[in-house]
Amino acid sequence: MQPTRHRIRTSGSSRRIGALAALAAVALAALTTASATLPTTSRASAGPVAAADRSALGPCRIASTLGIQMSEGVPTPPGYSRSIGEVRALNLMIDFPDAEGSGPAMDRLAEFFPQTADWFRTSSYGRLSYRTHTPVTDWLRMPMAFAAYGIERGSPYEPGYRRLVQDIVQAADSRVDFRAYDLVNVLVTPNAGPSALDTVLSVTFSGNDEAPLADGVPLANTSFIYSRQDDGSGSYSETGYRVLPHENGHVFGLPDLYTSEGAGAVGHWDIMSEDWGANNDLLGWHKWKLGWLDADQIGCASAPGTTEYALTPLAIAGGPKMAIVPLTKNGGYAVEVRTRAGNDEAVCQPGVLIYRVQSDVDTGQGPVAISDSARNSGGCTRRPNVHAELSDAPYQPGQSFVDQQNGIRIAVIQEDGEGTYRVRVTRS
Ligand SMILES: [Zn+2]
Repeated sequence: MQPTRHRIRTSGSSRRIGALAALAAVALAALTTASATLPTTSRASAGPVAAADRSALGPCRIASTLGIQMSEGVPTPPGYSRSIGEVRALNLMIDFPDAEGSGPAMDRLAEFFPQTADWFRTSSYGRLSYRTHTPVTDWLRMPMAFAAYGIERGSPYEPGYRRLVQDIVQAADSRVDFRAYDLVNVLVTPNAGPSALDTVLSVTFSGNDEAPLADGVPLANTSFIYSRQDDGSGSYSETGYRVLPHENGHVFGLPDLYTSEGAGAVGHWDIMSEDWGANNDLLGWHKWKLGWLDADQIGCASAPGTTEYALTPLAIAGGPKMAIVPLTKNGGYAVEVRTRAGNDEAVCQPGVLIYRVQSDVDTGQGPVAISDSARNSGGCTRRPNVHAELSDAPYQPGQSFVDQQNGIRIAVIQEDGEGTYRVRVTRS
């Protein structure tokens, strides 16, 4: 079995926010959820986008790139959980002889549900029905002490996690039919391991076809949630669950958008970038990748000349949502409208968000970069754990994004008073 390539985040070396030391410590901790997957997968079917209309959007369907662990390409490769229709999540609460669950296991479950299911219903416009299953309602006691598994920040799948998964399967097998589920959430007792303020251990192993078998199926898409994601702002009861939709995002094939530099690439515009603090949504690109947008909701500006699009707010169901401006077979720009609605509760400056997507840049390396319409402005938010500088990134009527090298101009023409923005794309 190939070793799982796993990125380890270390704070300290590359921070650029020294002036905000107290916040920075929290912010960097917030960025430390991780993903890991094996590069080769063979199971399950491709994402729903694979079956969608290919013709009109052909040049804008930036394909997945070989050799990339988790790619932004469309469609998502096989092996991940499906992201539309009924998705059955098996939830198992586990504790250890040296870290016994301090309250009822169902209280641990209640930290994440129904919020996580609600989050996916809202973000997917009702296309993902997240079904929460808890066939075991008390703590599953592991046979070894937590420390004995050797689980630390950035631990690889081997050998600690493999042993842990084997022990979970053994403890649960008489009461759980593992064939009945699309993904697994392991909710670890929060007193095992360090506080999330110090080290975020939460991790997902996705598309992992070589995972241990349970009832004959590999536990290929499994998220592990540790500690409590309490950011110190007193908002834990409202926002603490958000680590789970982030980790489940990996189960559906989404990469991490934060980098070793922090959240400076995407800010609070996607839960794969920031999963602490106020609620946020996914980028339109991710919604398309997950099968939550239809081909007729997306414009493809691939031909030379000028094309106009009337884009409606991404958080509101229905209507045109995104324009894509392809550059190469591995990348292009995406254009969408973000407002304070739905899961996007921290938006302080509505407008047209423009970003570059690259399918040949791996998870955690910056596969998406937002273009900031107001560089070095300091942003428009003071909310804790919301990346401030990019909070006013959206372009306003009268503003244009220009990529001279590629002969591209994206101009925001007007807003109709109800959140629909007219955008003009010119390719020379
Ligand atoms: Zn992650």
